[in-house]
Amino acid sequence: MGSRRRTTASLSSLVLAAAVVAGAQGTTAQAEPPETTPGGPWGDESSLSGVASYEQMWADLQRLEDRGAIELEPAPLQSNLGRDIPVVTIGDGPTPVMLIANQHGNEFMVSRGMMDLIQQVAGNNGPEAQEIRDNLTVTIVPRVNVDGFDGDVTDARGNTTPWRQNYDPTCDVGCNYWVEGRGYDINRYHSYGATPYDNPYVAGEDTLNEVPEAIAMRTLWDELQPVVMVDYHHQGTYVDDDGRMITGSIMWPNATATAEQLGIADEFAQTITKSQRAASVMLQAVDSYGYANITRYPSTTTPGIARNAYGLLGSASVLFELRGGIGQKSAGYISKTASVTGYELLKAIADGSWETADLSVIENIRERGDYVRDPRGE
Ligand SMILES: [Zn+2]
Repeated sequence: MGSRRRTTASLSSLVLAAAVVAGAQGTTAQAEPPETTPGGPWGDESSLSGVASYEQMWADLQRLEDRGAIELEPAPLQSNLGRDIPVVTIGDGPTPVMLIANQHGNEFMVSRGMMDLIQQVAGNNGPEAQEIRDNLTVTIVPRVNVDGFDGDVTDARGNTTPWRQNYDPTCDVGCNYWVEGRGYDINRYHSYGATPYDNPYVAGEDTLNEVPEAIAMRTLWDELQPVVMVDYHHQGTYVDDDGRMITGSIMWPNATATAEQLGIADEFAQTITKSQRAASVMLQAVDSYGYANITRYPSTTTPGIARNAYGLLGSASVLFELRGGIGQKSAGYISKTASVTGYELLKAIADGSWETADLSVIENIRERGDYVRDPRGE
């Protein structure tokens, strides 16, 4: 398993780099410093095994499909390394819901959370899971960025995966949100235009999108027309005004200027409210854990971000950023929070209760502190 050893080594150097960035940007000593011990935040190789490699994820999902628990297929487009992105479908109900995770290759604990959620919804004979499968068609993409997670490549500076971007060392048009010699930030390239192939930053023909993973997610969206869309990420370490660790941040679409340009301001306002109801369900789900401390994500209005693009297209759309990168305990927490919030949301959509979810939860949400702000954003 040479590739696994390589991944582990690069992970620790990545964490060291992240610690340097966080230290340079920190304006207070309150934030808990990320661990920089040799071996990285997950300690050793065996603890990283909680996150499936590309091959392992496909094998695990294939076993579930062989048992008839899920439908498994590759996404409509492959990654640039010619790898298939696994797409899981559970249930056959009339209401479509879509959850995606790990668009950023180095934010991979949420992919484990999605694998747990798949097990929970597909492999469970209880009445709750049955209601979800009867009333919903759930599509889960546990790892959008298969190349950025464990593609067997190095970038122009000699870095190995995992990293944030996909793999695409050359750029032909626009070159926004692109790291030279490495690749694109997938979560800036979701088309909200007429076709999945529109490049959000280049005028002209709707054929200039160079990010296959984003095109694939939008193509799936077109096929499914999900009522609710959720996108899971990690963020760095933050504390609130009381010095308490922030365990996650949440946000709904906010590309209001783009909606006005498109002449859909009224529809978009309704979409924001629907998104906030879905976010409310997720917040209440983690509220039952004493240690959850969720704030509003300080979001930009960039329309090509999944949260905004799918909101502009009419889905209730939620971004959930989980605290990440500081130790094994945190890793388990991230995975668990992703699966719990996903499960409770699916339950609430299946029984219809999400449509009347309490918006005061959203009105009262606090802003995230910016002590160790990550400049890269979602
Ligand atoms: Zn991210």
